[in-house]
Amino acid sequence: MSRSQTYQSEDMHDQLTILVGSAIQLLGSDAGVLVIATEAFDPQSNNDYVVYRLGQEGLAKLLQRGQEGLQPTSRHPLVIEIIEPEWASQILPQVDNAPTRELECCSLAIFDTAGPVGTLYFLRTVGERSCFERREGAADGHQAMSGNVSTEDVSVEASAALNMFIAHQAAALRCALKAQSLVKEQGRLASIFHHSIEGLLTVDSALRIIDFNPAMEKLIGWRESDVLGEFYFNVLRPRDRRGNELGLQDSPLLQAFSGQSVVNRDMIFTTRDGQPVEVRVTASCIRSARGEPLNGILTIHDITREREQEEQRSTFISVISHELQTPIAIIKGYASTLARAGDRLQPQALRPRLVAIEEEADRLNKLVANLLYASRIQANGLQMEASSLDLEPLIETVVRRLQARDAELRVSVEISPDLPAVVGDRERIEEVLQNLLDNAIKYSPQQVAVTIAARATSNEVIVSVSDAGMGISLRDQEQIFRRFRRIGDPLAQATPGAGLGLYICRAIVEAHGGRIWVESTLRQGSTFSFSLPREKQAHLPMVVF
Ligand code: ADP
Repeated sequence: MSRSQTYQSEDMHDQLTILVGSAIQLLGSDAGVLVIATEAFDPQSNNDYVVYRLGQEGLAKLLQRGQEGLQPTSRHPLVIEIIEPEWASQILPQVDNAPTRELECCSLAIFDTAGPVGTLYFLRTVGERSCFERREGAADGHQAMSGNVSTEDVSVEASAALNMFIAHQAAALRCALKAQSLVKEQGRLASIFHHSIEGLLTVDSALRIIDFNPAMEKLIGWRESDVLGEFYFNVLRPRDRRGNELGLQDSPLLQAFSGQSVVNRDMIFTTRDGQPVEVRVTASCIRSARGEPLNGILTIHDITREREQEEQRSTFISVISHELQTPIAIIKGYASTLARAGDRLQPQALRPRLVAIEEEADRLNKLVANLLYASRIQANGLQMEASSLDLEPLIETVVRRLQARDAELRVSVEISPDLPAVVGDRERIEEVLQNLLDNAIKYSPQQVAVTIAARATSNEVIVSVSDAGMGISLRDQEQIFRRFRRIGDPLAQATPGAGLGLYICRAIVEAHGGRIWVESTLRQGSTFSFSLPREKQAHLPMVVF
């Protein structure tokens, strides 16, 4: 859509002013105003009058004077009143020596068979007459009113000429008002088209693109100027939901042209750089009076995000059901054995079963706690109870706890001397560290050796947990901090987890004003690091995901 169309309504108003100005001049006047009748007037416009050579104050006075006086009608279309010199000077201060002239205020009804178009109020020097009003004795039909009004009789020919003039003015004004309202309408449509968040594309009868809105540019990557006049099918390269190329006959606009309904049809378009984008399209057709297709309109809704959410929901259900089923099955298995043969079991056979039950119950407990944590983060964000925090003793506590759990675990700690304090919520930072260490152990099946390092930069402290485990590909590194994201490697799947740990870590670290990231090489190991602002730089935002 040509964007210049939006700016044309001002030009149209200028044209109305020229039209009104020439009518006023033909009536022997210098200045005036047309008050447009509400019936003829675009209800969405706030320009209900057209002013010609009047200042603000003059306009207000003339309107007041004109509208307080006798109103012209279709039987008596012209009313003339002599006005006092002081009024004249207020209305026309800028027009030569208005007070020295004796002025009259005239009102002319402009109407046609369809009804009133407006009333023209104008001022002119007494004695000045237009060719439509020459006085030639009494005549009916066209007579000025009485009261504080000069009574004028005009000839039958003059009356006919005046009526002709009014009819011409009415026709011209109706046309101009209609054009103005069409231009405004066009401007409104252009603005909707331009600002729509849905992609919009229109084509001519040969399916060549004539409009391509900014949402479309964003979605497909082409600029409007690149695709105008292009065959739409070649630009969008549509495919069906399964990715099979669509034939032209099955393309949405051709189907709409052939009278088929295309509403909310899911398909895939191809972006400028060849990427598929999932969309939901509605196509419609504008036809001529004879039913031939003139234009096609395609509305395109990007459903990538909806698809992602759907995928997330189904991942959530499968991950959670798997994570719940496994410990429940183990607990149930051991509990059944104990119920059947518990009193016959030796203590050395009993104990590992009880330990397994306890461990699986802990796993269930952790899963439920993480789910609650994640839903709290989503609902309310995270509020920290932060105070000055020395990370060295915190790291040592976590390491001691780990080693108490697994004596074979090799943990090296590398803390820079004079590590500055940070501002943090002790319990939550401990959770982050614990989570990263648990992962380092969980995802290092062969070699259980981890390193924790802490060092300071000029404005933050960085803590890293490194392992020599399975590693993470570059592509997966971008995903794993999102909810329920687990890497599709069978080993990762075999490892218990719901894909919530890193999501929670990220929420906690970011709520401290810090960052969390990973550097990793597949099959060589990973280093997860997080930063916390040093005590004096701390500023705690509340993070809502
Ligand atoms: P969970 O471990 O419960 O699945 P996390 O959010 O802690 O959830 O981790 C998300 C995914 O990131 C894991 O499923 C795993 O695939 C991967 N991951 C996390 N830490 C490591 C690590 N140290 N080494 C390799 N992969 C990891």
